[in-house]
Parts: sequence; C-alpha cells; structure tokens
Amino acid sequence: MVEGLYFHIPFCTQKCPYCDFVSFVSEPSEEYLNLLKMELKLYEDLEFNLRTIYFGGGTPSRVPTELWKKFFKSLDLRGVEEITLECNPEDYKREDFEELLTLGINRLSFGVQSFLDKNLRFLGRLHSPKISLRAIWQAHLSGFRNISMDLIYGLPNQSLKDLREEIKIIKDLPITHLSAYLLTPYEDTLFGELWRKGNLKLPCDEEIEEMFLFLSDELSSMGFIHYEISNFAKEGYECKHNLLYWTHKEFLGLGVSAWSFVNKRRFGNYRDMGRYRQAVLSGKKPVEKEEHLEGKELVKDYLFVALRTKYGIPKGLVNIPDNLRDFFLEENGRIRMSKRGWLLINEILVKLFDQKV
Ligand code: SF4
Repeated sequence: MVEGLYFHIPFCTQKCPYCDFVSFVSEPSEEYLNLLKMELKLYEDLEFNLRTIYFGGGTPSRVPTELWKKFFKSLDLRGVEEITLECNPEDYKREDFEELLTLGINRLSFGVQSFLDKNLRFLGRLHSPKISLRAIWQAHLSGFRNISMDLIYGLPNQSLKDLREEIKIIKDLPITHLSAYLLTPYEDTLFGELWRKGNLKLPCDEEIEEMFLFLSDELSSMGFIHYEISNFAKEGYECKHNLLYWTHKEFLGLGVSAWSFVNKRRFGNYRDMGRYRQAVLSGKKPVEKEEHLEGKELVKDYLFVALRTKYGIPKGLVNIPDNLRDFFLEENGRIRMSKRGWLLINEILVKLFDQKV
C-alpha cells in the first residue's frame, strides 16, 4: 500500500557548489508539472492509502502559486495528513504562503543553511540571513504551524562559537523541525572537485564530532527531539513523510531522478530530463534502474534506514557482535544506535552486514 508521494521539482536559479541533487538552472514549466500528473496516472494499478506528499528539489518554491493551484486540482488529498513543500527563503511572499495553505500544503521546509553571512557566501547561496528570518516569520504569520529549516555544519574554519550564534537566532524562531546536514564534498560537485584537489579543507573527525554533539545537546535543551541522525523535531512534528522512508513503508517518487519503494522494489527514474519526458509522453514508466529486495537484502535495506532513527529496530532482528555493542542502546525491546554510533554509522553497518542477519 503506497502511503507517500514524492514529487521532484528540479528547477533552480543556480547550481550551489555542494549540491548533488538532480537540478537544472532553468525556469519551472507547466509542461513538467503536467508530466508529473501523467506519470502518476501510470501507477493507477497500485493500491494507495496516501498519508503524506512531499515536494522536493531542486526548488519547488520557484513554481508560481498559480501553477500549484492548477496542479493541486488533479490531486486527491483525502486522508493526507502532511503535505510538505521545500522553499528557498527568497522565493515566496506572505500572500504566496497564504495561497499555499489554502491548497492544503501544511508544512514548509526552508533551505536556510546558515544565519551567518560569511557561511551563506561560502555556500554560494543567494539569500541573506534577513531574508530567511523574514520568510520564516511570514510563513508563520500566514498560518503555517509546521515549519522546518535546514542548517549546514562542518564548514571550513567553522567554530563552536559560530554554531552558538546560529543557535541563538534559531531559539527565537517559530520552527518545529530542523535538519542539520554535514557539509559533504560529493563527487560531481564543485566542492567535491576542490576537495579532491586539496583546495577545500574540511574539519577533522574530532571537530565534526564536537559540532554534532553540540547541536544535538543544544537543540535537545530547546525541546527538539533528535529523532534521526540529521533531524530534530518538537514532539509530534517529526516529518511523517521521511518516517515512511526510514520505516520501510511504501512510497512513490515521481519526476526526473525520483526514487520509489513499492512491493519490495526500489526503483529510480531517469536523471536525464529528455529521456524522462520521452518515456512519460509515450505512456511508459520512466524507470532507469531497479532492484528487487528479498530475504537478507531486504533486512539489510531495512537496517540501513531504520538504524538512522531513534526508534531503531526490534531486538533480535540482528546479532550485535561484542565489538560493536558500545555503539548500540537497548530500550523497550528495541535496539537503536547511540549518538557516537550515528557518527560512525556507515562503518558500523558494514561490519554488522558482515555478520549473519
Ligand atoms: S542546494 Fe537547493 S537551491 Fe542549491 S542547487 Fe541544490 S537543489 Fe538547487
């Protein structure tokens, strides 16, 4: 039963130097939104019990509200509890937020990244701290009660003092959720290239650990629950859509490069816009790769996503070897990773997967 829909909106004003999402520097088009609707129709044979919808990108907030109005007419929102739209702080004004709310969108996720000018310049972002503050407050005043923001940490020369300044500003904001991402020099990004050539010096592991634990402690003291490695929420405001991913529920991803998990199959769409368009226009599902998960592979896949959360996995699902026990905690018949475990999750999972599951 498909419980979540993800729509990928791949248009951006520019390409940020750290970003490895599929996005194109181009204006959003109505034609693309129509392709999304056509693609959704190709899955009419699936059973749906829709609880969440997520518009990610790219930059969904580059789509004018007039186009969203038309798009939403084709969606059946019965039973849907959470509809998220990712926004860049510079895109929408108060009247746009009011329109979005009337369409049924009830959660906004702002790509703030930092409240310090120097960091925004380094990250190549187009907004200022003031623009982010204005966007978050305007969304709140328009009636949004579920607002998330992204923060990037682990920047070159970033200090705890810098992070303290960010926290001081965040404390006064009407937000219910925060995603804190570690700056990662992904391949095929400008930062990735600079890093490979030795021209980008990132903090060492000890510094990253210090920042991660600092953010976790500070945000916890502000009433945020650290419920996934990179995510913090006030009670009851955990992202329902992302929880589908982390609990192995079925979701359908639509649009160029979007991933789905349905009937034990993970499948991903074409990353190339031309091939995506051609497939949808000829009535074919635009799937480029797929993997069918059975037995051990399915369990591994579940461990990989579920151990990212504080809810963990049922005890007994996997044998935790003695040399890894310090990275795990046991609570109410479940096993979860400690914060130190989260910091090393990839290495730990590799060792765990070498065991019998
Ligand atoms: S970080 Fe966001 S705004 Fe920047 S290129 Fe990536 S998707 Fe676009």
